[in-house]
Amino acid sequence: MRAAVTGSGGRFEIVTVPDPAPGPGELLLRVAACGLCGSDVKARAMMPAGTVMGHEFGGEVVAVGAGVTGWRTGSLAAVLPALSCGQCEWCRSGHVAHCASVRLVGLGGSSGGFAELAVVTTAAAVPLPDGTDPLHSALVEPFAVGLHTARTAGIKAGDDVLVVGGGSVGLTTAAWAGALGAHRVTVVDPVASRREAATSFGATDVLASLGEATPASYDVVAECAGKATLLDGCVAATRVKGRIVIAGVSVDSSPFSSLSALMKEVSIGFAVYYTPEEFRTVVAAFADGTLDPSLLLARRVQLADVDAAFDDLVAANAGAKILVEP
Ligand SMILES: [Zn+2]
Ligand SMILES: [Zn+2]
Repeated sequence: MRAAVTGSGGRFEIVTVPDPAPGPGELLLRVAACGLCGSDVKARAMMPAGTVMGHEFGGEVVAVGAGVTGWRTGSLAAVLPALSCGQCEWCRSGHVAHCASVRLVGLGGSSGGFAELAVVTTAAAVPLPDGTDPLHSALVEPFAVGLHTARTAGIKAGDDVLVVGGGSVGLTTAAWAGALGAHRVTVVDPVASRREAATSFGATDVLASLGEATPASYDVVAECAGKATLLDGCVAATRVKGRIVIAGVSVDSSPFSSLSALMKEVSIGFAVYYTPEEFRTVVAAFADGTLDPSLLLARRVQLADVDAAFDDLVAANAGAKILVEP
């Protein structure tokens, strides 16, 4: 099969490697599509040469390993890209990403979706209904991030929600906020095309900067931009007893003034990854029309164009997804 593997300096090389075969309890997928993710941009230079990256993918089952039940060739699966022990407290409660032995698919734990074929365990495969557009299998993961963010923030019917950042995390969080019955969903992003996208994801209003948000007027603020410097602005926008959830990744430290958060008794939490149940909830929401996955699809590219597509991802500030179709 052909695969895009990490080469030097974070660039990818297209190589031909032997077709993988599913072991006991595993499935072989023909990858339908694999999304490019901002975390891949950060991680690619750290991956050993020859790594098949790509953690937002799914595809058609083309072979099943020994002892596999409940799966047949021709089925469509979305991949939950965390391989965990299945037995510890975190695995039993569904928070598989916190398992001490977790390995991440496409981020060094096992081969990912930037390849024609991928082997996944049945525990990591979530079935999609017959008739699902195979491309949508790659969009379950980003919507699961949004659901986990919205749930961690405790978004409920009637809430006024401010989503800071209109990348894929912000857009999918906004979509879920609407689906959970939020009254007002405001998305903040300096990029006009992202604000436009946010409207199609159900934002009731959009702002170009956090400073434009009416102070103390939101029950929930979701920081999806990954900028630690925005935390004071998030606190300013939050009501008394409101909640802030931070889902954006930031490696910078930034001074934070706690006075306003303290006086309002704001709760500040963090959200990362998702649970298998959240993955299945996204699949159900695609199937019943609660969510339209196609909104998140910006562009489709070939495996050979993965480097150029990553360059575009870094340069273009697009909120929606570029999908590779191996
Ligand atoms: Zn990702
Ligand atoms: Zn575990």
